[in-house]
Amino acid sequence: MNGRGKGFIIILSAPSGAGKSTLANHLVQTLPGLRLSVSTTTRAPRPGERPGHAYHFVDQEGFRDRIQRGEFLEWAEVFGNYYGTERSNVDPVLAQGEDLLLDIDWQGARQVRACRAATEVVSVAILPPSRQVLQSRLQGRGSDDPQVIARRMAQAGEEVAHWEEYDYLLINDDLQQAQAELLAIVMAERLRRERVGERARAILATFQHPSGDG
Ligand code: ADP
Ligand code: 5GP
Repeated sequence: MNGRGKGFIIILSAPSGAGKSTLANHLVQTLPGLRLSVSTTTRAPRPGERPGHAYHFVDQEGFRDRIQRGEFLEWAEVFGNYYGTERSNVDPVLAQGEDLLLDIDWQGARQVRACRAATEVVSVAILPPSRQVLQSRLQGRGSDDPQVIARRMAQAGEEVAHWEEYDYLLINDDLQQAQAELLAIVMAERLRRERVGERARAILATFQHPSGDG
């Protein structure tokens, strides 16, 4: 428990290669009280991706079973694979007073906004400085073959087109600056009046019942 009451959801969306995972991992390592949700996907693991860390990897049938059992808070088809956030990843974390980072696409972001109170969700769209830079980051990452990269580039325009649905827009040009800006967003969101009510009331109570301070 962090003394802040219930946690909230932070959604990060960006075209593939814009730096979401890099930023999300840095934030989780820097800021206490924040967890990264591990999504479930039908995509094959990349070299070095350990099951249960970046993703829970399942086959199509396993994914469909989970949809039918209503286990997903949101799910979507992205680049020909299915990706989803299991409900069991979310509510226990928020109930413990921790905030939860979801690295999901614009379709998933819409679903989460539609089923959660506005005060429970903060969303951040991340853009690369340009299309060319996005392409060179995808190539530089060295994890996808040229067809996969071409497919991701072809879909990048659709992801960036939804930036106005988000609360914040972050341009990941200089990495250190983007890391600092993301940290600032989450720290400021934690201080919103509606999220500090419990702590404020406890402080106010000490003014209403002074205990002989002099
Ligand atoms: P995503 O999770 O959005 O697909 P990644 O976090 O895997 O993207 O980043 C894609 C590649 O770009 C990685 O090789 C990463 O190290 C690199 N990268 C991320 N942010 C920056 C940045 N600001 N400047 C230069 N390279 C970056
Ligand atoms: P990647 O295959 O590069 O890990 O992810 C591809 C895309 O799927 C990214 O845009 C990422 O945000 C999105 N994604 C990852 N997990 C989820 C999820 O649980 N739900 C949704 N809707 N999108 C996801």
